[in-house]
Amino acid sequence: MPFPPSMVKTVRLGDDWLFWCPGCQTSHRLCKRWSFVNHDVTSPTFTPSLITDPDGKRCHVIIENGNLKYLDDCHHGLRNQTVPMESVYES
Ligand SMILES: [Zn+2]
Repeated sequence: MPFPPSMVKTVRLGDDWLFWCPGCQTSHRLCKRWSFVNHDVTSPTFTPSLITDPDGKRCHVIIENGNLKYLDDCHHGLRNQTVPMESVYES
């Protein structure tokens, strides 16, 4: 791997990309519907924003330059906050 694991913010899983969501305390998966705009695994930008709603627990996030911008309709405490992405190898 070209980067130390601590710098890697998203990893490939088949055709998808995975990243850690500190709001949901789980990883989220981005399928081919998203484009990996900058192809930088240490500081990723994906479009469009991601909305997940498992069991009614909504998470809505913009992934931009290695930051997670949570929108105000998230169920968790990081709504309306922007936080740096964490390594996918730590949890
Ligand atoms: Zn989430």
